[in-house]
Amino acid sequence: APEGLGETLIPAINKLQDIFNQVTLDLKLELPQVAVVGSQSSGKSSVLEALVGRDFLPRGPDICTRRPLVLQLVKAHGSQITQGEWGEFLHVPGRRYTDFNEIRKEILSETERIVGTNKGISDKPIRLKICSPHVLTMTLVDLPGIAKVPVGDQPSDIEARIRAMVSEYIRHPTCVILAVSAANVDLANSDALDMARGVDPDGHRTIGVCTKLDIMDRGTDAAAVLRNEVVPLRLGYIGVVNRSQHDINTHRRIREAQASEASFFESHTEYMDVLGQCGTANLARSLNRILVDHIRHLLPRLRQQIDDALQKRAAELRIYGDQPPGSTGIARSAMLLRLLDGYAVRYAETLDGRSEHMP
Ligand code: GDP
Ligand code: MG
Repeated sequence: APEGLGETLIPAINKLQDIFNQVTLDLKLELPQVAVVGSQSSGKSSVLEALVGRDFLPRGPDICTRRPLVLQLVKAHGSQITQGEWGEFLHVPGRRYTDFNEIRKEILSETERIVGTNKGISDKPIRLKICSPHVLTMTLVDLPGIAKVPVGDQPSDIEARIRAMVSEYIRHPTCVILAVSAANVDLANSDALDMARGVDPDGHRTIGVCTKLDIMDRGTDAAAVLRNEVVPLRLGYIGVVNRSQHDINTHRRIREAQASEASFFESHTEYMDVLGQCGTANLARSLNRILVDHIRHLLPRLRQQIDDALQKRAAELRIYGDQPPGSTGIARSAMLLRLLDGYAVRYAETLDGRSEHMP
């Protein structure tokens, strides 16, 4: 499988999600949503695709993403793994798409069904679930880009409408924002940074992503941006090279594109001192760090919930005697607690070399 989120995010998160999957307790390990914001054609859909490691989103020089796409990634478990990777749309229940080109076609035709063929937009989301052994269970949101001048069937207040639509997703304090700006546009004019700052002024949950490093004006580069010297962001910037329109037209594979991204950074000495801020793999790593921190904050509460459930079942046991209705639940909860404690200890040790204990 191509390198995607599942391969580069530390397996610990998967492990923990596995643990929660094994128990029947009503507990879920929810990772925050990750949403992309930026100007039209800045490369948002391309960045999401690269992170997932599959081709399935409409991309192009025009307005392609015209409705929000809420993409629920689900990691396949146990016997599901043999079923390979597949997608299912909420609006086409029961049909499994195994051909990712068909997924892209369905996104397009479902977009057109609601907003027509002439560049109209809608805030009504398309919901797509992708089940695969190679992804993390989490939700990514692809959003229409900010556009200033109405074209086709777009309303005269197109910019305000798109901003409101994007805000709906990124204003939530648990949403991680990938603020995408093209490197060949002045960062001071970045819609992405403007919108991200509006909802996350301290920059705790905004990662800057700088695309199109390969097509910058001759003699310019994005090294200063990646060094965080231009418009500083608390979490900094990652520079990426996605597929060009020509690559898309000639059906260049995502894996090939990953290799050429890597060789781009190897051959451009101006990025030598900021290689840690370069490439899709490092973007996945940054994202990972944020998700890990998020889990670290959640763990104590999860533990408490499990503990409470355990106490409750133990009390039932005392009332009902030997064979209470919930006795297997007790065994499971106890096992979960043990797993979780073991996990928490290992986890604290491995966290980026930081050695503090779980809170
Ligand atoms: P979105 O509107 O922000 O979702 O942007 P898309 O992902 O649809 O990309 C818009 C266009 O820019 C497409 O033609 C892509 O092929 C192209 N593109 C995106 N990222 C890059 C990049 O890093 N380098 C090059 N050369 N083209 C890119
Ligand atoms: Mg798009």
